[in-house]
Amino acid sequence: MERLKGKAALVVGAGSIGPGWGNGNATAVTFAREGAQVFCVDRNAAAAEETVKIITSEGGEAMAFTADVSRAADVEAMVGACLRAYGRIDVLDNNVGIAEMGGVVEVSEADWDRVFAVNLKSAFLAMKHVIPVMARQRGGSIINISSIASIRHTGVSYVTYAATKAAINQMTRTTAVEFARQHIRVNAILPGLMKTPMVEHSVGLAASYAEGDVEAMWRARDAQVPMGHMGDAWDVANAALFLASDESRYVTGIELVVDGGITLKFS
Ligand code: NAD
Repeated sequence: MERLKGKAALVVGAGSIGPGWGNGNATAVTFAREGAQVFCVDRNAAAAEETVKIITSEGGEAMAFTADVSRAADVEAMVGACLRAYGRIDVLDNNVGIAEMGGVVEVSEADWDRVFAVNLKSAFLAMKHVIPVMARQRGGSIINISSIASIRHTGVSYVTYAATKAAINQMTRTTAVEFARQHIRVNAILPGLMKTPMVEHSVGLAASYAEGDVEAMWRARDAQVPMGHMGDAWDVANAALFLASDESRYVTGIELVVDGGITLKFS
């Protein structure tokens, strides 16, 4: 229960887009259960507060902060506030990500820019401001939440999502090499088909699977996976826990695929 004892973790996108467990709130709660102090950041103040409430009701330590992390000023303020609260940042979990439907012909220029800002620029900005802190501390662990859409066509047409997640992977690898000597590890998690509020509420996702029928979408997604079912937010949270903890001290620059085997099909 103390795999993160003594560590301060900054979880970006620590709320959930809807009721239930998303990757962000499950990860924040998992980190706290393992002894971390968790700084919970979200653009939705109520969602961040909700995660903090769960953590503190279990006896854990957490604070909420509101920021739109696609904006540089918000990210700087977030890092400053985390340092004032906990004095250090040992773990950065970049969980923010949105999925907008559409291939290159359908997507508008404005949507392209917006998804790149939310999915990719946010992780760049967070690393830009956190890495100097970790360098001063002589180490840290950064976890970038990518997706199997970064390495496969998942059957869903969402070019902005696939392209931003692919860029996250390469930014993870190159940053891992550049900061390895400073004991800053940078890894990515590639979740597969997970059953989370994000999937349920993504406009157009159910439509692209099953003409808008969410229950039919769940069945279709279960059937695609070799294990016979989707994963859930705890599968992502447990992978993040491993990468956040010192158990993974010799692991950097990897893409940890958490997908029930789906990328092995037609690979
Ligand atoms: P979620 O949609 O519930 O997002 C978590 C939080 O991020 C939300 O509370 C939302 O308010 C916040 N957020 C969004 N934009 C923000 C911004 N600009 N600034 C600050 N906060 C912002 O999703 P989740 O379930 O936590 O999963 C998120 C991550 O997992 C994403 O990166 C997503 O791409 C990835 N992922 C999910 C799946 C899946 O099937 N659920 C699969 C692969 C990858």
